[in-house]
Amino acid sequence: MNKQYDVIIIGAGIMGCSTAFQLAKRGLKVAVFEKQAIGAGSSGKSSAIIRQHYSNKLTARMALHSLRVFQNFEDEVGGESGFTQNGFLVVSAAKDHEGLQANIAMQQEIGVNTQLISPQEAQALMPGLEISDLKAAAYEPESGYADPNLTVNAFANSAKVLGAEFFLEEEVIGIRFDGDKVLGVDSPKRSVDAPIILNSAGPWGARVAAMVGIDVPIDPCRVQVAFFGRPNALAADHPVVADFIHSTYFRAETGQLTLAGLIDPSEAEAIVPPDDFLENVDQDFTLDIGERVIKRYPPMEQSSSRGGYASLYAITPDWHPIIDELIPESGFFISAGFSGHGFKLGPSVGLMTAELLTAKSDPLFDPSLFRLARFAEGKEVVGQYEYSIAG
Ligand SMILES: Cc1cc2nc3c(=O)[nH]c(=O)nc-3n(C[C@H](O)[C@H](O)[C@H](O)COP(=O)(O)OP(=O)(O)OC[C@H]3O[C@@H](n4cnc5c(N)ncnc54)[C@H](O)[C@@H]3O)c2cc1C
Repeated sequence: MNKQYDVIIIGAGIMGCSTAFQLAKRGLKVAVFEKQAIGAGSSGKSSAIIRQHYSNKLTARMALHSLRVFQNFEDEVGGESGFTQNGFLVVSAAKDHEGLQANIAMQQEIGVNTQLISPQEAQALMPGLEISDLKAAAYEPESGYADPNLTVNAFANSAKVLGAEFFLEEEVIGIRFDGDKVLGVDSPKRSVDAPIILNSAGPWGARVAAMVGIDVPIDPCRVQVAFFGRPNALAADHPVVADFIHSTYFRAETGQLTLAGLIDPSEAEAIVPPDDFLENVDQDFTLDIGERVIKRYPPMEQSSSRGGYASLYAITPDWHPIIDELIPESGFFISAGFSGHGFKLGPSVGLMTAELLTAKSDPLFDPSLFRLARFAEGKEVVGQYEYSIAG
């Protein structure tokens, strides 16, 4: 007879590990299958920026709840997340000023520590910042970034301490059903059973859903990150910057480096086979993003290129995840498609998914916004005052 669990999770990224932790905390017997290593997908390569600047209430609430977890990680999860609080600045075009103001008002209403500041105040926080094209900026003093590998491994370790079992380098290659209900999964090494199976396979989410004949709109898309060595005059870490004018984000990284990437809807077009794509950074990308960073932060003209890498976003048509029971009453669930902004939400998503799987009647976060049917219904998630793909 196959070994029996309460829940089988496919994928040990931040979503799989955070959900395993929450389920194990509730006393459930959990098995996690990971085809490579913990955090080997998007999660371990994440820029791991932790900000609250979202354009709808649910995601902003989830980001705030997650921030509190990152701030008290040792108590809330156990282990380390490497959370560094050095502030987050949002700059957007003058035409988006009303949207920025409205967003900040909504975020303040739910308790986010954020404020509209003048260009001069932004420059005082980050001397050297180019402000001639700004009408205002948003500033979150409590935000920053985490260490993605420390974070994911901490969730996995705490889940293990609570009894979850991890099967690493074991790809799920088959999902079995008994009539309309899930029965279990097969890897090349074993078959195990559970009445609930969660697909948290990130960029492989559509492939895993296809194993049970369900089509989900999640594309694996290649995205790049470049590093730049800051000159000694800029040795002190700078705040995280989201620059919607130059469609760029950048943050400090250890070793006097700055890490930079794009905030660009066209990244959804770079669909690649998730197991076979170029993981090196392109030279053109490094040159382009370097110029964008210099435009916003001219002292970086003295910086030096320090390489980079490419990884995957799991992008859905509205840049929001799918968190749902894929076949009603079957026990087959999904939590994937986080479209380049899921890392910071990881602690809240683990809670939301665990409450969905255990059918909690009064969940802290209602997942219905993220149901698969929204695409067929023409009810895609739209931020109230969305001015980019900020979520
Ligand atoms: C370069 C980059 C920068 C980012 N920056 C940020 C940021 O600053 N802030 C932010 O909030 N978010 C950011 N993100 C997004 C964030 O990292 C992702 O949304 C998040 O990590 C997704 O986690 P996941 O668990 O859904 O997927 P993943 O981490 O990809 O995990 C899925 C796992 O499933 C495994 N798997 C797949 N198929 C199978 C199978 N059949 N059997 C067993 N295992 C399987 C994979 O090996 C993988 O480990 C960034 C992402 C990237 C790539």
